Amino acid sequence: MTESSPENAPSSEVPAADSGREGHQESRPDSRPEGRPRGGRGDRERSVPKVKVFIEGRYLKHSRDLPQTLFFCPECKGHPRRRRKCERCEGFGKLTKDSVQELIGWVLGKAAGTRKHKFHGAGREDVDVRMLGDGRPFVFELLDPKVPNVDLAEIEAEINRRNEGRLEVRGFHWTQRGRVRELKEGQFAKEYRARVACEQLPDEAAVAACLGVRYDVAQKTPTRVAHRRADKVRKRWIEIVEVEPTEAREGEDAAVLVTLRTQHGTYVKEAVSGEGGMTEPSLASKLGLGESVCSELDVLAILEEEEPSKEEDTEPQATESRATESRATESRATEVRGTRSEPAEDSAPQKAPAKPSSFGAGL
Ligand SMILES: [Zn+2]
Repeated sequence: MTESSPENAPSSEVPAADSGREGHQESRPDSRPEGRPRGGRGDRERSVPKVKVFIEGRYLKHSRDLPQTLFFCPECKGHPRRRRKCERCEGFGKLTKDSVQELIGWVLGKAAGTRKHKFHGAGREDVDVRMLGDGRPFVFELLDPKVPNVDLAEIEAEINRRNEGRLEVRGFHWTQRGRVRELKEGQFAKEYRARVACEQLPDEAAVAACLGVRYDVAQKTPTRVAHRRADKVRKRWIEIVEVEPTEAREGEDAAVLVTLRTQHGTYVKEAVSGEGGMTEPSLASKLGLGESVCSELDVLAILEEEEPSKEEDTEPQATESRATESRATESRATEVRGTRSEPAEDSAPQKAPAKPSSFGAGL
């Protein structure tokens, strides 16, 4: 899923034709939304790339409609000919108009003289989850660039100028292929802010008892990813950092903003609601919120990597993710539409310096 993960193997050397792989989707000439019809020429041009360059940076996603990587229509796979008659994507070849990968690739690729690229993220967030704070590290791989020595600072500024309010990139610099593997294998705990629509506000005693105290959850594979993830129970830790009341919206009884830290690989949205007993205990039950749902989620920080946990679940998770990888193209469709939570990607975390709760005052 989303987090493409620790378990992802380094990218393949040769770009796969139709199957996008999780975490490093490849672009193709015909995938450009604004592209004119190219009469299938794109297929012919594809050959084994000889030159690859790697650029590392971080991205911030300020909108809730941007997937990390481009993904092709599950029906026609974006194939230049097949997509013309495709009803699923109406000839578009893709299910979303753009992605972090494409917004970067259109500028960087144009400057470098190539439309072939791969995106390797250090995990990933759901399409509707914002990536804030210092952003998420990624490596952008350009295949067969005609102009290898582009001005990265200029390109970074241009990407930011064109995508203000949606996407922001920082710290572009040349890097080595080895960084891809490092990013993929890293296990990072993360800090999130979840907006939780709930039945009732928590009482102060419940909040006080929870703050800064790490607790374990047992998560069954969420329904929304069950079709592509092994059905198993995983143990993860969660730590609530802050709870503040917020204004309820129409149709809601009450709402709170919860800042929390979670171990790599935690399904955060499900951890909030409990998803009908699929995650025990739910954050809602810990705080006494009653029936709850995570209505919005932001990643605030990707915390530093720590020692991989020795828990038994490390291994199965890897297996499961590998299976996911090959079906990434298909699964993307669902991901875009539904609300996925990010299976975070970490293991051990830092102890959260428990901030004083602003909860009491707010109520
Ligand atoms: Zn299609």
